[in-house]
Amino acid sequence: MKSNGNSIQKAKVFFKKTKTGETAKQIAVDNLELLAKLDAFETIKNDDFVAIKMHFGDNGNIGHIKPEAVKALGDAIKAKKARPFLVETSTLYVGERSNAYDHINIAYKHGFTFENTGVPIIMADGLMGSSQSPVKINGKHYKEVFVASDALHYDFLICLNHVTGHIITGIGAAIKNIGMGLTARGGKLSQHSGVLPSIVEKKCIKCGRCVGFCPVNAINEAEKAYHIDATKCIGCGECISICKNDAVKFSWKQSSRIVQEKMAEHALGVVSGKKDRLLLTSHIIHVTKECDCMAKDEKCVIKDTGILASCDPVALDKATIDIVNRLHSYTFNYENENPLNPLHQLEHGQKIGLGVMDYELIEI
Ligand code: SF4
Ligand code: SF4
Repeated sequence: MKSNGNSIQKAKVFFKKTKTGETAKQIAVDNLELLAKLDAFETIKNDDFVAIKMHFGDNGNIGHIKPEAVKALGDAIKAKKARPFLVETSTLYVGERSNAYDHINIAYKHGFTFENTGVPIIMADGLMGSSQSPVKINGKHYKEVFVASDALHYDFLICLNHVTGHIITGIGAAIKNIGMGLTARGGKLSQHSGVLPSIVEKKCIKCGRCVGFCPVNAINEAEKAYHIDATKCIGCGECISICKNDAVKFSWKQSSRIVQEKMAEHALGVVSGKKDRLLLTSHIIHVTKECDCMAKDEKCVIKDTGILASCDPVALDKATIDIVNRLHSYTFNYENENPLNPLHQLEHGQKIGLGVMDYELIEI
């Protein structure tokens, strides 16, 4: 039986096992088969703009979902005469994915060219990762969140989530791919940082470049370096990527619980208005302790397990955590000084109406 996955009591989650070393072609077939189980897939029609959200992996990371899955999905969407395209956003920190130009070049390097996938890449947050739009929500931290502007225009959003551990949120899966992955720099900064950015005196060469990009004139010249006026700064994050000297810094020291809550609230903003138009698969394949933002290949922490599909990101992440725990006795509690509990983002997600934790697992 098919499902819209948004049932008030239980969401349906479809699951297909896979074996370690499965070919990318077979994984692409399985991914499509699972998406086709969701009623929403059948409602994609003529001329719809269908965004496929995934993580291309940082330079040299090989754990990401492969281009073959995008090719098979893109062809199926085009067969419905709709318009599929890949979407991503720039990173908060300065690096090889902090603007659309460099990020797309990494995507090409990892095989996501038009020749391989048949679909273009359209960055959701513009050239510099600063294009964002407000969405009203009723959250604990926000009454309004800023999401990547283009995300408001998608007729359908299909998220292909690569499941990994995560140093701040415990797990990187559906909620993270939406909540962090489809917000622009201001939204990312707000989730990660409890404080506003500041300029490191020693690194600032006083070029003045950042001044012209600040939307609220919060950056002023001081004696030794430029300085951010905290009474004016709105935390948009624009100056972080603009500074070529990496002189603008922000604090990562936000507690995991708060980041998880804020991430779930941003995810709610992204999917708001997309009832019956959100489809997700999560690949428990090449699962690593750290996320795909690591610019290196990493050792897998469990054997390849399978793919899950649902329309409910909370149920999907809960099923992912449960299956990994049941089949491998592995938990996503990142073991550092402060063990994380990734279930917190699900509990908060349920509380604010992002989805439900109860699910019915249907193995195919
Ligand atoms: S762009 Fe960077 S180096 Fe230039 S003034 Fe601003 S903070 Fe200083
Ligand atoms: S974060 Fe935005 S508002 Fe604050 S100083 Fe930087 S550019 Fe200006």
